[in-house]
Amino acid sequence: MGKPNVLFVLTIDTEEEWQWDSEFPQHDCSVKNVEKLPAFQDFCQSLGIRPTYFVDYAVANNDDGSRILREFVNSKQAEVGAHLHPWCNPPYFGKTTEAESHVINLPEEQVVQKLDELNRVINEKIGVTPRSFRSGRWGMKGKTLELLASRGITVDSSVYPFYENPFFHCKGAPNTPYYPSFDNALQPGSQRNIMEIPVTAGFNVMNDSRADKIHSTLSKPPFSAFKMVGMLWHTKILKKIYLSPEMTDAKSMIELCDSSLKKEHPVIHMYLHSSSLIDGATGLLTADNAFSLICARIAKVLEHLESHANVSFCTISEAETLLSNKNDVVQPYSFKEASYE
Ligand SMILES: [Zn+2]
Repeated sequence: MGKPNVLFVLTIDTEEEWQWDSEFPQHDCSVKNVEKLPAFQDFCQSLGIRPTYFVDYAVANNDDGSRILREFVNSKQAEVGAHLHPWCNPPYFGKTTEAESHVINLPEEQVVQKLDELNRVINEKIGVTPRSFRSGRWGMKGKTLELLASRGITVDSSVYPFYENPFFHCKGAPNTPYYPSFDNALQPGSQRNIMEIPVTAGFNVMNDSRADKIHSTLSKPPFSAFKMVGMLWHTKILKKIYLSPEMTDAKSMIELCDSSLKKEHPVIHMYLHSSSLIDGATGLLTADNAFSLICARIAKVLEHLESHANVSFCTISEAETLLSNKNDVVQPYSFKEASYE
């Protein structure tokens, strides 16, 4: 049997840095991390990766941030999409609570105004109209998808598979590309205007949804007291893995890639935050020299992936174009159609 074909997408939430366990910043956000982006873009290009930067208001409205991203776009080696952080994106409607930090919990009229302002600043300062989107802190609902589609966005990546917290959840959503319903963003529907391409996440076993049920049950009382999820991870019986070099080591990401290939997923979708490229900026990644660690992990995963699959690199909108068709199911991508020229 020949090697499978797969698309590789890397998305970067490109945003201000702040300690995630403290208050949400509103004005005067620090975006020092953008200084690392040119070196990171060079690294990506050296491997053939075509990154997608989901840019938030703080970065787009910053002179250095917008200049750097404009150069990437002009070189045609990267895509700029939109990333909505409600807390630092005008217009403002008072202090952002934990619940409202998730776009999914904002009143729709606020989402409309904030999205339009975000798109305006990206267009004015970076020179592009975003075709792709990710919500700050994840989560998506049908009504917002409809709004995104009406603004020319053709691909969303706000679904965080298998995740739940007290403010929103993505339980039951596919962990492969699909056309979400405008009635329920977590389920496939009949509309064909906007595709969901979730980040790669899954379990090291064949049946993801059954594994998720077991994992969820064991994560909650009374089972959580026995630390069974940790035990299953260390014994490698059941691991929930997200494809992000800022929280997962290369070995586990490779395991996830292997199981995604086995499940014939058409896209391997890795993600990170730009703020992870500088040391200790958010509290998420505590390693010294985070930039090198992240690059080393990405390189290792790609080396493995390219020896086990025919990998084609694309931005998220390019992936959407390659995958799109008018059938009910998003078909695995055929290589004959590849052309970015
Ligand atoms: Zn963000």
